[in-house]
Amino acid sequence: NLRVLLRARPEGRVEPGHFEIREESPPSPRPGEALLRNRYLSLDPYMRGRMSAAKSYSAPVEIGAVMEGQCVAQVVEDPTGRFQPGDWVLGGQGWQRFSAVPAGNLRKLEPGLAPVTTALGVLGMPGTTAWVGVTEIAPPRPGETFVVSAASGAVGGVAGQIAMRMGARVVGIAGGAEKCAFVRDELGFPECVDHRAPDFAERLAAACPGGIDSYFENVGGAVQKAVFPLLNDFARVAFCGMVAEYNDPSPAPGPNLMQVVRKRLKLQGFIVRDHPRAFEVWPRTGAAWLREGSLRYREDVVRGLEKAPEAFIGLLAGKNFGKLVIEVT
Ligand code: NDP
Repeated sequence: NLRVLLRARPEGRVEPGHFEIREESPPSPRPGEALLRNRYLSLDPYMRGRMSAAKSYSAPVEIGAVMEGQCVAQVVEDPTGRFQPGDWVLGGQGWQRFSAVPAGNLRKLEPGLAPVTTALGVLGMPGTTAWVGVTEIAPPRPGETFVVSAASGAVGGVAGQIAMRMGARVVGIAGGAEKCAFVRDELGFPECVDHRAPDFAERLAAACPGGIDSYFENVGGAVQKAVFPLLNDFARVAFCGMVAEYNDPSPAPGPNLMQVVRKRLKLQGFIVRDHPRAFEVWPRTGAAWLREGSLRYREDVVRGLEKAPEAFIGLLAGKNFGKLVIEVT
């Protein structure tokens, strides 16, 4: 059984040496467990937090333990009788080829309804995050300007499309000309600004002539610095993540939060797992939109579990283009 373990905790940038790739014998299911062959592993920015011992909303992965992560898998055998061999399921099996897990913790997938990988991205946890952030945390009103960073990504791409449906004028922020073209041409955002351009702050201001009413924050750092002065009075900010800062050994000095007072801003952080109902509502809503062709998404599928460390390191530097998924060969 090929497995990727956490070997050491990074103090800054993540390096391949922080992981250990091991070949072990496959597990045997204990009572109540099903044996699974994992087919697709989701790589997500939150995994950087699990590699660190710093206090957070979830416990860290122990040194020597398999890296945590959601997988789409096929059932090899299920002595509990809940699933048939070959059934597709979703669960938290981690970075490994085979897993024996409690059958009751698995969700059955219907491959006829949507491609199975969508359960890790557009219809899964990232899509649900977008749904919560836009509809509950920082909802735009019709005609308002809604800005989202990491706009070509798993969360950002969906967030912008939901905001457009709510009648907002959506401006994306993404890294590089190719990602910006995708956000405009494929996702249909009217504007997307390249945060790698030397005059990014001026370009963002030009794209938001009436200021920003609602901001979906995925990135932090220099992007956040350019957004804050453009926030209008009574703007809403959904603090979803700050992936540009996850490798920083200590917190960077933040924006001047006196603006929160002067502009009477409402800022709110959120963690998607606190919104269990959204995990029922969004996959149904999103699947219907996918079927009618009105919801677009992009996946970045990397073949081979042994490539997971390198692909994850790339995710924290913007090298992925779309929802990052490992095909577990
Ligand atoms: P993405 O698919 O968007 O991939 C990450 C993207 O972040 C990269 O492609 C890149 O896009 C951008 N990025 C990475 N490093 C940098 C950097 N140094 N500077 C600027 N941009 C960078 O990932 P997700 O959609 O899965 O996640 C997006 C955000 O949502 C993350 O912050 C994540 O932690 C957060 N999140 C929060 C949840 C919650 O419950 N609060 C749940 C799920 C995700 P580009 O090249 O365009 O800049």
